[in-house]
Amino acid sequence: MVDSTDKAPIVPIAHFKRTKIIVTIGPPTSNYTSILAMMKAGANGFRLNFSHGTHEERIEQIGWIRKASKAYGKPVAIIQDLQGPKIRLGDFEGIINVRLGQSLSFKYNADYDASGIIPTQYDLAKKMKRGERLFLFDGRIRTVVTSVKDGIVYARAENDGVLVKRKGINLPDTDFGGDIMTTKDKADLTFGSTQDIDYVALSFIQQASDVAKVRKMLKNLGSSAKVIAKIETKAATENLEAIVKESDMVMVARGDLAIETLPESVPVVQRQIIGLGLRYATPTIVATQMLASMTEMPEPTRAEVSDIATAVILGADCVMLSDETASGKYPIQSVEIMKRVILYVQEHNPLTVNFADGPKGDHNQQQAISSAVINLSHTVDAKAIVVETLSGDTALQIVSHRPEAPVIVVSSNVRTVHQLALAYGVKSYDRPVDPFAATKLTNWLHTNKVLKKGDTIVTVSGKYPRVVGTTDTIKVRVL
Ligand code: PEP
Repeated sequence: MVDSTDKAPIVPIAHFKRTKIIVTIGPPTSNYTSILAMMKAGANGFRLNFSHGTHEERIEQIGWIRKASKAYGKPVAIIQDLQGPKIRLGDFEGIINVRLGQSLSFKYNADYDASGIIPTQYDLAKKMKRGERLFLFDGRIRTVVTSVKDGIVYARAENDGVLVKRKGINLPDTDFGGDIMTTKDKADLTFGSTQDIDYVALSFIQQASDVAKVRKMLKNLGSSAKVIAKIETKAATENLEAIVKESDMVMVARGDLAIETLPESVPVVQRQIIGLGLRYATPTIVATQMLASMTEMPEPTRAEVSDIATAVILGADCVMLSDETASGKYPIQSVEIMKRVILYVQEHNPLTVNFADGPKGDHNQQQAISSAVINLSHTVDAKAIVVETLSGDTALQIVSHRPEAPVIVVSSNVRTVHQLALAYGVKSYDRPVDPFAATKLTNWLHTNKVLKKGDTIVTVSGKYPRVVGTTDTIKVRVL
């Protein structure tokens, strides 16, 4: 338990962790003590994977996260990760042996013992066509569809292997025609809109309009959650730029992405996504198998450390833990290792991002102000950029330039404070609306030794702190 003296330590500004950590809650970490321990170890975001668990469990987990965040004094983001059209095999007894060249048949909810047809939890025949690839057991068995008839999909196996009930199916060539939200997703989204959730992550999106549709659904439900597009289909990799522009955040969901494309294409797509994220001020997440060996072992492999370092060097906003914290033996240690790697890399290999200026008039006012802030803070060697923001957009624009100085955000919008917990280099504070909010926060940081006498600060604010898009004032202050 945390008592009132067990608050987050106050760290001098130079030691702020810039790249953020997202953890996934699962059986070993689905309790208040583990959630608090992961928060203390460095977690900034908590992913609730809606492929598993009940709504009652979610309500409990959200309660623990918010309680720990309040007790420890650190704003964190909660992500509702929707299952999406994650297709699985249905139930059958034992295993099914598959041989190269064998003809297999699949049907929604078939009875395997009675018919020899393999059951699926989704009606594949509605979407699949001849010639499309159908991968089984998370890519272990590859097949190609030979025909679709009377609700049955027939396919030819391209390798030997075994099938186990309920294992994942991937359809890399199948067009879902903008129909990616399942009935379960819609029910989960409605439930989430009644909860204290900051982001909704969409699985298996194919195009930018999939994101736009869910944004509209969230608006109709009265939710202020932002949308994370998970890039894990071949179609999404072909529409990357439009998806990054449309989304509030983008995740490189490397697990399914490697199955749907090729494992060797994933690092290339990862670079493209992070680069586009920087260009369009869309924060990015690198996810899956970052510390996979730590599900069983207390130490990471060299390759895993290098993988985290690469994500940091490329400029990702977040790195994510999945099985490591959702089912692994060393969840807290995994977060600690991740934080150590991030801090070492940011100190020894600081990020610099250069953007070519767009044509005159190509930038909106917010982008132009952000560029001016970057230049000014560099020229005066600012130790911090303090931003008053309602929606968080100005802060995201500024950090997309990866400034040398951390960005301190002050906002009266608690949702924005939580959401910015996942933005690179941002430390956000929840304060009431006040024309002197930035000045007061800077004084508080000074008194608490986060900033010191003589530090130069650049502040960014607007005349109307209750109105989005009215940022118009930049000031330089020496403490
Ligand atoms: C992934 O496939 O890498 C991923 C993050 O998605 P999920 O863990 O939800 O399958």
